[in-house]
Amino acid sequence: MTEYSRPGSPDALMSFPSRYDNWIGGEWVAPAKGEYFENVTPVTGQPFVEIARSTAEDIEKALDAAHAAAPKWGKTPVAVRANILNKIADRIEENLESIALAEAWDNGKPIRETLNADIPLAIDHFRYFAGAIRAQEGSLSELNDDTVAYHFHEPLGVVGQIIPWNFPILMAVWKLAPALAAGNAIVLKPAEQTPASIMYLISIIGDLLPPGVLNIVNGFGVEAGKPLASSNRIRKIAFTGETTTGRLIMQYASENLIPVTLELGGKSPNIFFSDVLAQNDSYQDKALEGFTMFALNQGEVCTCPSRALIQEDIYDEFLELAAIRTKAVRQGNPLDTDTMIGAQASNDQLEKILSYIEIGKSEGAHVVTGGERADLGGDLSGGYYVQPTIFTGNNKMRIFQEEIFGPVVSVTSFKDFDDAIRIANDTLYGLGAGVWSRTGDTAYRAGREIQAGRVWTNTYHQYPAHAAFGGYKQSGIGRENHRMMLDHYQQTKNLLVSY
Ligand code: NAD
Repeated sequence: MTEYSRPGSPDALMSFPSRYDNWIGGEWVAPAKGEYFENVTPVTGQPFVEIARSTAEDIEKALDAAHAAAPKWGKTPVAVRANILNKIADRIEENLESIALAEAWDNGKPIRETLNADIPLAIDHFRYFAGAIRAQEGSLSELNDDTVAYHFHEPLGVVGQIIPWNFPILMAVWKLAPALAAGNAIVLKPAEQTPASIMYLISIIGDLLPPGVLNIVNGFGVEAGKPLASSNRIRKIAFTGETTTGRLIMQYASENLIPVTLELGGKSPNIFFSDVLAQNDSYQDKALEGFTMFALNQGEVCTCPSRALIQEDIYDEFLELAAIRTKAVRQGNPLDTDTMIGAQASNDQLEKILSYIEIGKSEGAHVVTGGERADLGGDLSGGYYVQPTIFTGNNKMRIFQEEIFGPVVSVTSFKDFDDAIRIANDTLYGLGAGVWSRTGDTAYRAGREIQAGRVWTNTYHQYPAHAAFGGYKQSGIGRENHRMMLDHYQQTKNLLVSY
């Protein structure tokens, strides 16, 4: 076990300044009203940095800077833009450990995740889109001997982006990398719960982009997010967050008739067909590991497999093994490299999860394991820790239908293939799903029948840059990742030429 020293302690890899201003036009700019708010670490529940509390005036300033930068950036040769994205990736890689520490401290997630997944994925997304923009081609169609239709890609111009707190850096990069590659200037607002790690990242990479191409404005949803999303000076708004906020974003966007990308909530089913059980073989082991994925990132994942569906003939045995495996998932200090589950991102989120655990108990669901706040002792007792919790019940219960966004899984049984698909699709959401079966035909058919944008079969929680990600139903509109994202940040220009 290695424990990373806390940011700011004498032997720590990094420290935060006492406050972060906004990043506008390539420099740190104090908020117009001069107000700041405290950013708290979920690790101990203590504040550690002040953050600019921005309003519409700050958003306007950032939009001024973005508009000043957009025309030149949009006409910068793709090879130059790609080169800058690759340099950003290299710079992040050189500072991997300190950025991973900043992210774990700000969000409460385990450093082994930020070191091995979040930040390496962020690096790879920049490299992927640097490559994708180099490979993008326009088209030419001959209409007849002397008439030709050319299609060109053009950037949208200035775009707005608003992100949540569960993967602060990765969620930012999912949006930044394709938008920058496509030649847009950006105003991005981080979540108010986790702004510090993004600002730390900016302090490392900010100088690599021309001033004004990337602007980060911090603050709260209605004070800072709304003026950005409802501005008539942006050509697109990309949003990740709750479904209820997504509806508002779409309303604002409709006033200006701009496109939206909405990555929203989920209630993802993870289906275990009876052939997953065998005599302790490696496949069974992998499936049990797949079950515990509900606790990854403390369950604060939009695709959290928060409903587990187990075929009835293996239900008791599989659940017993799954509970043993869940109890073995090590919860602890997020800065300890052995820790697999850390702290929930905020006190509000902690309370929301605990209230859902009470709802589950009151509606008659049975607690198999967990079901309480976790007290890790010492100064971590002020942190926001919840025991990984397994409920059993039925799909009509609120804990099966509503997004909890915590380490809580609601388990039920199914009879056969059709029953599994019926239960899986009995939800307002359609973001992710998991299918576990040794039979290729079953896994394939289930994957096609489930109404969700991402179905993992015989794996879970992988997010490669080249795989399209997004929701069906109330989980969202549009996609992220994959080179198709470039189209979402570009206009198509048609030149119809007669020679
Ligand atoms: P949230 O909707 O409360 O906040 C998200 C962002 O929106 C924050 O930056 C917030 O300040 C801003 N915001 C809030 N109200 C606003 C308004 N009126 N106008 C403009 N901006 C506003 O969501 P959250 O609690 O931060 O994040 C958790 C949610 O995000 C969960 O529902 C989760 O499923 C979802 N999520 C989805 C994906 C995905 O890819 N589909 C990924 C991660 C998280």
